[in-house]
Amino acid sequence: MPRRCMACIAAVTALACAAAAGLSAAGQGRGGPPRGPAREITQVTGDLYRARNGLWATAFLVTKDGIVLGDPINPDFAAWLKGQLDERFHVPVRYVVYSHSHFDHAPGGAVFAGTARFVAHENMARNMDGRYPQMPGDMIDRNSNGRIDQDDIMIPTNAAPGICGWGASFFTTWDRNKDGQVTPAELFADVPPPDIVYSDRMRLTLGGKVVELVHPGLNHADDMTVMYFPAERAVFAVDFLADALVTRRCIRCRARADRSTVARCRNGSSRTVPSSHSTSTCWSPATARCSGSRT
Ligand SMILES: [Zn+2]
Repeated sequence: MPRRCMACIAAVTALACAAAAGLSAAGQGRGGPPRGPAREITQVTGDLYRARNGLWATAFLVTKDGIVLGDPINPDFAAWLKGQLDERFHVPVRYVVYSHSHFDHAPGGAVFAGTARFVAHENMARNMDGRYPQMPGDMIDRNSNGRIDQDDIMIPTNAAPGICGWGASFFTTWDRNKDGQVTPAELFADVPPPDIVYSDRMRLTLGGKVVELVHPGLNHADDMTVMYFPAERAVFAVDFLADALVTRRCIRCRARADRSTVARCRNGSSRTVPSSHSTSTCWSPATARCSGSRT
């Protein structure tokens, strides 16, 4: 395996293990500074920025009438980010655009609820309607009880150690009533449901600037949105590009569609991708269904 792919696996291993920990508030070290994921805001181009929370990131576009924000990531990060946005830009967040419904990107938006509307692909509403949601890889409802059990997570975790699954702190984070199961309601307790949904493409305009939302089809998730910033020649894409660079062991058939995405990327027209987990991949907004056929 090429060395660069091993690096990708190392990165995703850390993601899987850190997912639950990333949702907890920054701890206080013994006699030291507060501990928590590294956070920073970097300018991508013009008024487009990337905000990082450890191995996760989101993007936002600043306009004179407000901010269009991508994933809130988690409540602690979102509270930090709101403080940063208020201090630096003095305009409110008007839209929160969910990349997808997964537990490690979607929570935390409540802090923006006073000023923002929440936008997502229509399948996110389905994933939040109380039924067992679509989750990464082989995290599925194995006994069809509609709840997330230890086996639903640990079987895929043990089948592909360090690649697919959650760390041991998963249930302590989301099993809010400590009954040994995680209900869909518990999983989404910190996720304001979308109040604007779209099916294929959607165009947001704010303060004279434009953000195009594109549903790339089924890939890592079934409710994925790519944010395309035409004036900035940039896109913000989450998870499915990283998946494509890693392995098909836990992603199974979906990896093929994701790799098709990357193959098309090589001829893409976008200049920059401030992805959630990497910044190095390009993607073409011209191929709206860039993940290829549904598998
Ligand atoms: Zn995901």
